[in-house]
Amino acid sequence: PLTLESALRELDRHPQAAEIDLLACDLNGILRGKRIPREALGKIFSDGLKMPRSVLCLDIWGHDAHDNGLVWESGDGDGSCKPCGEGLVPVPWSPRPRLQLLTMMQNLDGTPFSCDPRQALAAIVKRFHALGLTPVVASELEFYLMAGDSAGGGQPRPPAAPKSGYALDAPRVYALDELDEFDVVLTAIRDACAAQNLPSEAISVENGRGQFEVNLLHVADPLIAGDHAVMLRRLVRGVARAHDLHGTFMAKPYGDSAGSGLHVHCSLLDKDGRNVFDDGGDAGTDLLRHAIAGMIETMPEAMLMLAPNLNSYRRLLPGQHAPVAASWAYENRTSALRIPASGPKARRFEHRVAGADANPYLVLAAILAGALHGIETKANPPAPVAGNGYADGAAALPLPTTFETAVEAFEQGKILRKYFGEAFMRAFGAVKRQEMEELRRRVTDVEYQTYLGFL
Ligand code: GLU
Ligand code: MG
Ligand code: MG
Repeated sequence: PLTLESALRELDRHPQAAEIDLLACDLNGILRGKRIPREALGKIFSDGLKMPRSVLCLDIWGHDAHDNGLVWESGDGDGSCKPCGEGLVPVPWSPRPRLQLLTMMQNLDGTPFSCDPRQALAAIVKRFHALGLTPVVASELEFYLMAGDSAGGGQPRPPAAPKSGYALDAPRVYALDELDEFDVVLTAIRDACAAQNLPSEAISVENGRGQFEVNLLHVADPLIAGDHAVMLRRLVRGVARAHDLHGTFMAKPYGDSAGSGLHVHCSLLDKDGRNVFDDGGDAGTDLLRHAIAGMIETMPEAMLMLAPNLNSYRRLLPGQHAPVAASWAYENRTSALRIPASGPKARRFEHRVAGADANPYLVLAAILAGALHGIETKANPPAPVAGNGYADGAAALPLPTTFETAVEAFEQGKILRKYFGEAFMRAFGAVKRQEMEELRRRVTDVEYQTYLGFL
């Protein structure tokens, strides 16, 4: 466990590191925090890092979400971010030796700050523990590497074409040429994962030019799995920057290439470490079906956490292995929930809805809340999809297909509030509604290009 003593021991192993980056994850999954001198570490363990509580509930542009009752009605006083996760790790992409440490926000009286997404996940995991169940989760993160100047707000550009000259628009999924072409940066990503104790397993080439996927190994603690995903996102962006590339987890950066997803694999262990989804055969247990049913029932209102941005909805199209309806199926990538073929002991579901742009803590929290709802109500799922899930409309509940309808479904939802609480629901809803309304006011370049000259 992480204690001041264990952290100081780790600090001793890095005598060159003068500074520590303290990280806290906001509602949008963006890391915020401060850089402190190494000597200040002790104080962080005793007092925490003080930041205004609104820092974790800013909208995507960094504006205050004024409709957030919890923060503003109390005058936006400080919260205290306390160290959490697996501890101090080096920041290999930093130009000078440096360490980083994850934190989680508390109110000054020591109670959890309910708008901190990691706290929201912690509260849901606690409910599983109360039932004697431990979720085991693994995530797969897709992302794009782009030309280094692609973050400026104009058209992003793929990395420069290789000299060998293969067709850049051809599907490259699982290609090995790109593993070689991007060897230097991918190896730096792998090495940085090792330095930060992130259990990176396979790295593969995805469908888009410059698109890759990193699979993280499963862990029997969703909070740690969330930490790993959040850290991996910082790592990829940092390593890419150090190689003059831009790394992005935006869900659909190019309209005509595959989007980037955040798939989550999950099984559940009982007190004896037995997988409660394992029925000894291929079908899985009733508990698995209850969990599936609960996730399907909550999926429309959870959509805003799984696909939290206007751009997220461009990814969710038929034919690109991204789901369009709340469906489930055995070994089928056209459904939202896939039961992968495996030995019975590894029986699990793969949740395929979330975009890589979503907050990993909230993705895990939304998935687990849905599964728990299904288990608690002993819900039964619709029939699994057979064959092409994009064609099998009858077997699936439709999902919000736009940012606006997802905001509405979230606000009107009845299930998630039981697990997230009113304060969180109001804070997250306020941030996303504010973004939605701001985006609705903005006239886009596409509209000028399409309408201005003709009308
Ligand atoms: N890129 C797809 C998505 O947007 C997933 C592809 C895959 O199955 O790995 O979710
Ligand atoms: Mg993939
Ligand atoms: Mg997958």
